[in-house]
Amino acid sequence: MFNDAIIFYDHHSLFSSRVTIGPYTLTPLETGSFALDGGAMFGVVPKNLWNRSNPADEQNRIDMALRVLLIRGNGMNILVDTGMGDKYDEKTRTIYKLDHSKRTLLNSLKECGLETEDITHVIQTHLHFDHCGGLVTKTDSGELVPTFPKAKVFVQKENLKWAEHPTEKDRASYLKQDWEAIVEHGMLEELDGPGEIFPGIELKIFNGHTRAQQLPLISDRVGNRVFFCADLFPTKAHLNLPWIMGYDNFPLTTLEEKRRVLPQVFEEHWTLFLEHDPVSPFVKLEDVGKGFRAVEG
Ligand SMILES: [Zn+2]
Repeated sequence: MFNDAIIFYDHHSLFSSRVTIGPYTLTPLETGSFALDGGAMFGVVPKNLWNRSNPADEQNRIDMALRVLLIRGNGMNILVDTGMGDKYDEKTRTIYKLDHSKRTLLNSLKECGLETEDITHVIQTHLHFDHCGGLVTKTDSGELVPTFPKAKVFVQKENLKWAEHPTEKDRASYLKQDWEAIVEHGMLEELDGPGEIFPGIELKIFNGHTRAQQLPLISDRVGNRVFFCADLFPTKAHLNLPWIMGYDNFPLTTLEEKRRVLPQVFEEHWTLFLEHDPVSPFVKLEDVGKGFRAVEG
């Protein structure tokens, strides 16, 4: 199955795809963009297939969004993930084609009328550098300090344990500098398993990409649901069952997790929030017989 749905999204209009679920307003925030090797992003899928949906640059990299979700309501300003942050040197920025020229997390927040002090909670899906790098900010003296001084930061205990003792395969993705200051300041709250963290915000646990990736499902009483996919479905193309990242630690677990969740997403008309899709923040599913593909959310 090949995802050819094109969804137009105006990156300059921050609020074009704002969604309301019960008491919460959900706003996708662009925090910049980066690029990763296309082969690594699609595992066993041949380039002549993935290159059609996600065209590679001269270094074989594909464009990736660094999109996070702002959830406002019930007196809270919650961020789900924090992007890569701005602490990288020129060499690293070049390797990852990191681009903050149009958007940063802070200017996107400002556009919503928020300062860093206003963020009350951060839900970190997992501690990979492209999801949690914005937790800390580099001061002029080079010190890394918490970006959101008043926020409680939720991480799964098992993911933190894995992050602190990664394997040779994924140690390049877990960088202690991203969360050390959060631990030192007593801001980290470890969660142990799935559950409802706030009314209408449930965390689901997935173990294929890394151990204990926590993905929020935001629901209201009349059946509207938004599911934050993070690295279970980083882009629309990953809705194809075998399109699984080479980065995943347990790819067969990812396969089973995708096989299990997709029919429910379709039957219950969930809206999917895509963190890394270069074009679409929100999509829904369409049944095309041999699988599902993305349609405009
Ligand atoms: Zn990841």
